[in-house]
Amino acid sequence: MDQLPIFLDIRGRRVIVAGGGTAAARKAEAALRAGAEVTVFAAALGDDFREIAEWPGFRHETRAVNGTDFAGAALAYGAQEDAETDAATARMARAAGVLVNVVDRPEHCDFTTPAILDRDPLVIAISSSGASPILARIIKARLETMIPAAYGRLARFVGDLRQTVADVLSEGRQRRRFWERVINGPIADMALSGRDEAARREFDKVLALAAGDTAPDTMGEVYLVGAGPGDPDLLTFRALRLIQRADVVLYDRLLDDSLLTLVRRDAERIYVGKKEKDHTMPQEDISSLMARLAEEGKRVLRLKGGDPFIFGRGGEEIEVLAARGIPFQVVPGITAASGCASYAGIPLTHRDHAQACIFVTGHGKNGRLDLDWKTLLQPNQTVVVYMGLSMLAELTAAFVERGADPALPVAVIENGTKRSQRVVTGALVDVAANVAEAGVKSPALVVIGTVVSLREKLNWYEPGSAASDAGECMGGMRLDPLEAAEFDFT
Ligand code: SAH
Repeated sequence: MDQLPIFLDIRGRRVIVAGGGTAAARKAEAALRAGAEVTVFAAALGDDFREIAEWPGFRHETRAVNGTDFAGAALAYGAQEDAETDAATARMARAAGVLVNVVDRPEHCDFTTPAILDRDPLVIAISSSGASPILARIIKARLETMIPAAYGRLARFVGDLRQTVADVLSEGRQRRRFWERVINGPIADMALSGRDEAARREFDKVLALAAGDTAPDTMGEVYLVGAGPGDPDLLTFRALRLIQRADVVLYDRLLDDSLLTLVRRDAERIYVGKKEKDHTMPQEDISSLMARLAEEGKRVLRLKGGDPFIFGRGGEEIEVLAARGIPFQVVPGITAASGCASYAGIPLTHRDHAQACIFVTGHGKNGRLDLDWKTLLQPNQTVVVYMGLSMLAELTAAFVERGADPALPVAVIENGTKRSQRVVTGALVDVAANVAEAGVKSPALVVIGTVVSLREKLNWYEPGSAASDAGECMGGMRLDPLEAAEFDFT
């Protein structure tokens, strides 16, 4: 980050604007809107000043600005659109210790002015750190359509009641939950639609309930969320929303670190991951831990790699919850098969190759593969093997022994969809050797079928490329999800 974003309180403070044209008028107007005393130095004022010249706090001097004018000023703008005079303005401002901005002259700027989305008192400022004001403006236009104008009304409603709530609910978590309920629910809808009185009545009711009777708050909820195979861009909107709401997170080894950066900073994190033969926490314990945390009133996030209902034991974990009457919801995720296949350029089905696709686990019981071979050897289908790396040699040999074409193509995808993705290909007869030679490690997914040959034409993903930079890119926009999560109503 090259610049520090801050919001300045300049009410009643002096702001100097040198220049009388359009750019000068814009700067003067923004400062006046923020309550500053603005003095404009210009021989004459252009048409753009016509309206703002009437506003309180506006002053006009027809002479040129000089060094003494800057004493005690909060900010200065050079907008004379003449390189020499603007440079002189910047020098005088800096000599007086006043932060200065010269229009279109980054070298003379101590600060830049962001594109502003004004939903007063809610203000969103967008900056490209001077790199591309146009890009900032385009993003502003997009946000304009996403954030209804009435959000200002809602922000004011919430702002007026913030202290009242703080007086009644002393605990941070309780307050945050209360505000989320208000802002996500019917009270906000009433405030947004201008029914302030009805909103206030309902608000008083809900607050009294939250303060007096803790019963509605005591039971938490469990979110069983599929986080996809690794690339955080593959999360669903709902997954992201719940990740940012949770009070405590239970996660395991499959998850990319960058996914955990999306969790609220103050949320508790509990590692319950397991490696083969190294069960950090038995499944029953995970379920009872989730149940206990929810019973304590926490919102518990159980974050699972891929999809929770595909080889994820998600079903087992929530059976316990269901039995104990604990509320839960399940969010599907992109399973390793579809994530890895897409990022490896291997369509799982294809008119000329495969009309079916079958997902199996290669995790043998007691070191022996226990698979339905008749089904697996069907022609025109793709077989995807989860947890198949350690048994790869046995698996491919068994295919050949049972009559599969030894030349049938196989791909093994390590760390699919991540920046570290590697794909090793071969045929049934030699892929295990190739994989051993490449030193492929878990997590890795095995794809067997002639669709693998399409990779030669369809491979598009370049691991390690900027677009896949984990955590950087959310929904195509560079948002800092942590900052979004920190948007704090308490
Ligand atoms: N519920 C998960 C699967 C859990 S089983 C899902 O829907 O994807 C764990 C197995 O999934 C691993 O052994 C591996 O075979 C596969 N897997 C998960 N993530 C993967 C990734 N990013 N790359 C390759 N394989 C992956």
